[in-house]
Amino acid sequence: MNKFLRTLIPADIAKGLSITGKHFSQVFFTANRRKVPLHIVSEYPEVPAKVQPRFRGRLTLLKDEQGEIKCVCCLACEKICPTQVITIEKGKKEGRKMPFPVRYDFEMERCIFCEFCVESCGFDSIILNHQFELAAYNREDFSLGTEGLGQNMFEPSHAGKFSVADD
Ligand code: SF4
Ligand code: SF4
Repeated sequence: MNKFLRTLIPADIAKGLSITGKHFSQVFFTANRRKVPLHIVSEYPEVPAKVQPRFRGRLTLLKDEQGEIKCVCCLACEKICPTQVITIEKGKKEGRKMPFPVRYDFEMERCIFCEFCVESCGFDSIILNHQFELAAYNREDFSLGTEGLGQNMFEPSHAGKFSVADD
């Protein structure tokens, strides 16, 4: 019988199947799947995904302690961006000596997340945040800026509102 089975299922395949079966039953028969000691697969979206510290997400403008936009319109990021997705309009703001970005537009659908913009900024005014769920149904949702409803360059954008992790 054993010989017959060995012919039918070669030893290596049988060994592989037994290991798979062992791990499957370990997960399947455990009430709380998170208690399984060796977890190789992330349980996203039930468990929020952790990205690495250097992960490059969506471009975000930063504010200082007083809540002022840190960007001083040197235009370095706009010039260095290889896909030319940043458009800045330089202006003035009452009570502020440094130039103020009247407009800071960002076309996310063409961003390649290279981080050149962040590296070129000598004023630490921008970062690539850790937002990675950037799905959207409309192309317009990828156009971000400093003005208008949902055009927020400072917080996780509406382009990530379809995040499965938020459900
Ligand atoms: S990450 Fe790269 S492509 Fe995206 S805005 Fe910055 S420079 Fe442009
Ligand atoms: S490089 Fe920095 S300071 Fe200069 S325009 Fe871009 S965000 Fe503003």
